[in-house]
Amino acid sequence: MNGVEQLCPNCGLCCDSTLFADVELRAGDNVQRLKKLGLTLAKKEQGKLAFAQPCACFDGKLCGIYHDRPKRCRLFECGLLKKVQAEEITADAALKKIKTAKIQAEKVRALLRTTGHRDEQMALTHRYTAVMSAPIDLKASENDSELRGELMLAVSDLMQTLQRDFLR
Ligand code: SF4
Ligand code: SF4
Repeated sequence: MNGVEQLCPNCGLCCDSTLFADVELRAGDNVQRLKKLGLTLAKKEQGKLAFAQPCACFDGKLCGIYHDRPKRCRLFECGLLKKVQAEEITADAALKKIKTAKIQAEKVRALLRTTGHRDEQMALTHRYTAVMSAPIDLKASENDSELRGELMLAVSDLMQTLQRDFLR
């Protein structure tokens, strides 16, 4: 036992929109069953069916449809999980990395709320794009620019962590 089973229940970054904005279905997924279980499926530009993140079936800690989850979810293993399985790092070291990523993601969410963007049902990356592409508020331009700068740095820190520890 290398402690790998502790990771996901303490993480959830691949379900809460920190790592992904959506999840595409694969051949063999039961579309009707997944809809009944609470996933809202929509066609993407390329015609593939997908559901948006944060996932409606994620309770903040665990997958609510674990035994019926789509193929992509069954097959996905982040880099951190693989490294613990391969015993390249310990579960304790991985849990520390998860903690760091979650603190960084929460900082981004807090900054988004400060900008006035409070739609927690929208994926993190879409929220960030929405804030950064909105016209600068001229009445509060200094604060607005400062906040955007802070947000940009926080997103950059988070992206570095995700790329380094989870996506390879
Ligand atoms: S990002 Fe990795 S450790 Fe976190 S929940 Fe997903 S698979 Fe588990
Ligand atoms: S179906 Fe389950 S594993 Fe897949 S994204 Fe939703 S909560 Fe995560």
